[in-house]
Amino acid sequence: MSCIFCKIADAEIPAKVVYEDEYVLGFLDIKPINPGHTLVIPKNHFESLSDVSEETLARMASASKKIASVLKEALASKCEGINLHLADGKAAGQEVFHIHLHIIPRYTTDSFGLKFPPHYGKITTEEIDSVYRKLRNLLE
Ligand code: 5GP
Ligand code: ZN
Repeated sequence: MSCIFCKIADAEIPAKVVYEDEYVLGFLDIKPINPGHTLVIPKNHFESLSDVSEETLARMASASKKIASVLKEALASKCEGINLHLADGKAAGQEVFHIHLHIIPRYTTDSFGLKFPPHYGKITTEEIDSVYRKLRNLLE
């Protein structure tokens, strides 16, 4: 298995692990957006949201809540906010295909953020409603 996050989960390559339980691992991102930027992964390999079990995703969310709260304490008043971010698929920015949640400490001055596209605010009511109807049908 050549997956880098599986290797971290198996302790084959080093990482700055800050959290571990039976199902998930939390470790510092090698290229943090801000100090304390942490990744939470399942110990088992799941590539994406469609592969991961609901139980594992719930464990990732629960660990992220704990880590986010401790991060705020560790960074003290310097941490102004937290983003939880999950990139699912290449178009969403996923580079490592072992599902992971980013926990990113945020500051009003850090210049990080999602870019809004030129068509932002210009999606037509027809397009919005067409998806809305499909979602309602598929999710009911
Ligand atoms: P993605 O773009 O897939 O959501 O994010 C992948 C993240 O994994 C990036 O933020 C990147 O810095 C981090 N990363 C990639 N390789 C390694 C590694 O070997 N060790 C650690 N700690 N983080 C890694
Ligand atoms: Zn993996």
